[in-house]
Amino acid sequence: QVRVRFAPSPTGNLHVGGARTALFNYLYARSKGGKFILRIEDTDLERSTKESEEAVLRDLSWLGLEWDEGPEVGGGYGPYRQSERNDLYKQYAEKLLQSGQVYRCFCSNEELEQMKEMAKEKQLPPVYSGKWAQATDEEVQEELAKGTPCTYRFRVPKEGSLKINDLIRGEVSWNLDTLGDFVIMRSNGQPVYNFCVTVDDATMAISHVIRAEEHLPNTLRQALIYKALRFPMPTFAHVSLILAPDRSKLSKRHGATSVGQYKDMGYLPQAIVNYLALLGWSDGTNAEFFTLEQLVEKFSINRVNNSGAIFDSTKLRWMNGQHLKALPTEELIKTVGEQWKSAGILNESEGLFIEDAFKLLEGGIDVITDAEKLLSDLLSYPLHATLLSSEGRDVIEAGLPVVADSLLAAYDSGELVAALKEGIPGWQKWVKAFGKSLKRKGKSLFMPLRVLLTGKLHGPDMGESIVLIHRAGTSGIVAPEIG
Ligand code: GLU
Repeated sequence: QVRVRFAPSPTGNLHVGGARTALFNYLYARSKGGKFILRIEDTDLERSTKESEEAVLRDLSWLGLEWDEGPEVGGGYGPYRQSERNDLYKQYAEKLLQSGQVYRCFCSNEELEQMKEMAKEKQLPPVYSGKWAQATDEEVQEELAKGTPCTYRFRVPKEGSLKINDLIRGEVSWNLDTLGDFVIMRSNGQPVYNFCVTVDDATMAISHVIRAEEHLPNTLRQALIYKALRFPMPTFAHVSLILAPDRSKLSKRHGATSVGQYKDMGYLPQAIVNYLALLGWSDGTNAEFFTLEQLVEKFSINRVNNSGAIFDSTKLRWMNGQHLKALPTEELIKTVGEQWKSAGILNESEGLFIEDAFKLLEGGIDVITDAEKLLSDLLSYPLHATLLSSEGRDVIEAGLPVVADSLLAAYDSGELVAALKEGIPGWQKWVKAFGKSLKRKGKSLFMPLRVLLTGKLHGPDMGESIVLIHRAGTSGIVAPEIG
């Protein structure tokens, strides 16, 4: 059975890179009818926090990447936090000590530093010299009796190589001669990260390890530990880095990089999921719009490519617009309406008004917060700014006063208001007759009208705008300071 895991370290927010790794694991599990497991890697006690763990879990759930086993939901392979699995690590460390694949090293930090210095002088790689690798039992017992602290070191073969078949990168191989015997347990009894991960993946029966490329050096050590413990090796798949547009590693200085930030900016989870899936994967066609269900259906790890993917926030914004437009009308009205209410533009959510207003403005809306700006712009009336601009002056010279006089008359007689009450058809009928009476049409009619009625030279469809503004002004839907 396919069992994959996402193993975040709770030391910060869920980064878009982490979210993509989680997504690929999720898609792999779901497309293979397997299990998606969440494991919290909190061995770094100083940097791990409960708040971060909660935030990561919350963001994953918000993205819709529900896990089958892990914190909160439990499962048959728990506990799912490394901090709760120490006994297990110790047990396996002892096992390796018994079998001789691990040995005790009593070197002090100063000694280790000296070793590095010496290696540097001789231009050798800065690896452990193997000082305690061949110690006799007596030598070891003597140190133990003295109470000298010791680490557990893994005995790495001095020559040969190791290779894996990575699902994304193909064959990856390492020479063992420059690795050196590495520590798996510190002198305070704390197991080391690579050791924990291996024990966890093996005892949680993980079949495929899909993670970021930056973990490749860890894979070498982990693979050696698998062999030493005679655990079956999982299949590895290392996903390439997400890069900034300048091809450097994506980081905070490039703007928003955490899922939570995008959530706060009003992005939809489905748009983020869709966008992240395209960072390194395609379905083999030019298609770009996918729901999570469609991704599950189409996903194939063979089509994840091995070159770095560029994170383009403009494209993500566009993608969000696509998903916004694809929302069912009711959901959209609710979301947009809430946004407008919480921004203080609307007093109450009147579904039809919101729907019409959204339809009028949607061309310019990619993120829900755009809607707020567009509606308040539309409903505000910066007439003086328009009249002062040179384009505004041109419109005035092209006959604004003439049109204004007639428009005022139409307003005073109640004719215009009566027409607007009939909605778009009423407006169209009126404007046609109005143009005829002035012998004007096209730009010379519509530009002055637009300025007079909306206070602006440009904007969305004029008839629809006027009807909407009229409705806003007479219905009490719009907050008075805006209408
Ligand atoms: N805890 C690691 C991280 O946050 C992931 C380790 C792994 O996937 O093996 O990057």
